[in-house]
Amino acid sequence: MRIFKRIGIIFVLIDNFLVNFPKKYLFKTRYVLDGKCLKCGQCCKQIYLKATRAQTNSPLFAKISVKWIEWLFDFKLKWIDFEDDYFVFECKNLTKDGKCGNYFWRPNVCRNFPLVDYFKEPVFLPGCGYSAKPRKSP
Ligand code: SF4
Ligand code: SF4
Repeated sequence: MRIFKRIGIIFVLIDNFLVNFPKKYLFKTRYVLDGKCLKCGQCCKQIYLKATRAQTNSPLFAKISVKWIEWLFDFKLKWIDFEDDYFVFECKNLTKDGKCGNYFWRPNVCRNFPLVDYFKEPVFLPGCGYSAKPRKSP
């Protein structure tokens, strides 16, 4: 089963590359990250995956997608936020010293955290070692 998981992650990584390449080199984001990870592990204990209202309200979708994510990423569902439409997970690969036990194969949500998006200012968890600064104009 592990080989299927690895193949699934390889497709996820290709998707991640295609999403991030334009952000870095073509249509650059307004902000860039500053600082570093302090390995507090907070972001691995509460992983918010955005969904739509229809998705969180569909027991069938929730069941299938949660099972898929739990299997592919080694996450475990904590709760569903029906108000703002998030599936909230924790990760089984977080080690006791706050490190990632699956660093090479970690999913996109980890690689892209903290997220720097086009239209919103980046948001950070309290105590996170990262901050954002405006990108210097060329
Ligand atoms: S919350 Fe920030 S400092 Fe803590 S583990 Fe995540 S990225 Fe690192
Ligand atoms: S795969 Fe690693 S970085 Fe991602 S949530 Fe799990 S422990 Fe954290």
